Amino acid sequence: MDAFDFIVIGAGSAGCVLAERLSAGGRHRVLVLEAGGSDRSFWVQMPIGYGKLFYDARRNWRFTAQADAGLNGRASYWPRGKIVGGSSSINAMVYCRGLPGDFEDWRALGNPGWGWSDVRPCFEAIERNVLEDGRVAGSGPLWVFDVSGQTHPLCRHFFAAARELGLPAAEDFNGPSPEGVGLYRITTKGGRRWSAADAFLRPALRRPNLKLEIGISTALHVFFPGFITGKSRLAVSCKAGGCGSACSLAANGEALQQFSIEPHVQLLSPAHPFQIILILPL
Ligand SMILES: Cc1cc2nc3c(=O)[nH]c(=O)nc-3n(C[C@H](O)[C@H](O)[C@H](O)COP(=O)(O)OP(=O)(O)OC[C@H]3O[C@@H](n4cnc5c(N)ncnc54)[C@H](O)[C@@H]3O)c2cc1C
Repeated sequence: MDAFDFIVIGAGSAGCVLAERLSAGGRHRVLVLEAGGSDRSFWVQMPIGYGKLFYDARRNWRFTAQADAGLNGRASYWPRGKIVGGSSSINAMVYCRGLPGDFEDWRALGNPGWGWSDVRPCFEAIERNVLEDGRVAGSGPLWVFDVSGQTHPLCRHFFAAARELGLPAAEDFNGPSPEGVGLYRITTKGGRRWSAADAFLRPALRRPNLKLEIGISTALHVFFPGFITGKSRLAVSCKAGGCGSACSLAANGEALQQFSIEPHVQLLSPAHPFQIILILPL
C-alpha cells in the first residue's frame, strides 16, 4: 500500500475514530500519521498511571500557555497526549457525554447536526456500558464502566455530607438528571484504560487499507515530495488536537501553497471558540 486517499494527522481521540470510519468498507486507503510513539506501556494501561503521564515528556506535549491577565498573570500548564490514542491515552478516563441542553444550544447557534437528537444515537452506537451489577448494556466498541460498587468509604462519607447540605445526588451524569454530586463512569475494560486507540484504531488496523505510522510529525513529512506517490486525489484531515492542529496547519502553510493544495477548514460557529477546563487546587 503506497498511495492513499486520506491522510489523518494525529492518532488521538478524533483521529482514531476518523481512521476507523474512513477505512470501513474497504474502498479508501487511509494513512494515519502520529507524532508520538506506541501506547503499549504499563503506565498507559493502568488507570493509576494517569498521575505519572501528566508530566511525562515522552508521551505528553506538556504545553505552557502564555501568561494570562485573567489568571492574575499566571501561565497555565496544558498537558496533551503525544502518543497513539492521543490525550485519550493519558487522560483521567471520565466518561461524560455532555449536557443535552448544551448540544441544543450549539445547534440553535447555527451548527446543523450538533443537536441532542442528532448526537444521542452516535453516543448510543459507540458505548458498551458495564453496569454496577455487572450487566452489560450496548454493544459499541467503547467500554464505559460504572465504578459505584468499588468506592473508598471516604467517598461515601463525602456524598453523605453533600446530601446533608441539600445537594442532589446524581446517579448517572449521562442520564436524565445529571445535576448534583456523584461518581463519574470511566472508560476502562477489565480494570485497564480503554482509550480511543483501543476502541477504534486497533481493531480497524486489521484492515489492509489502513496504515499507522508513528513518530512522524507532519510539519516535517506530510508534504515531503515523494512521500505520497501515485495519488489521484488526496484528502488530508488534521486531527492533531486543539493545540496540535493549529500548529500543524501553520507550519505546513507554505508547503500547502507549493503543492497548490486548497485548505478547507471546518470550524464550529465563531460564537463558540476554543474552550478549556481549568482545574484549580483548593
Ligand atoms: C491530562 C488530561 C486529562 C483529561 N481528562 C479527561 C477526562 O477525564 N474525560 C474527558 O472526557 N476528557 C478528558 N481530557 C480531554 C480529552 O482527552 C481530549 O479532549 C481529547 O482526547 C482530545 O481529542 P483530540 O482528538 O482533539 O486530540 P488528542 O487526543 O490530543 O490527539 C491529537 C493527536 O495528534 C498528535 N499530533 C499533534 N501534532 C501532530 C503533528 N504535527 N503530526 C502528527 N501528529 C500530531 C498528538 O500527538 C496526538 O496524538 C483530558 C485531557 C488531558 C490532557
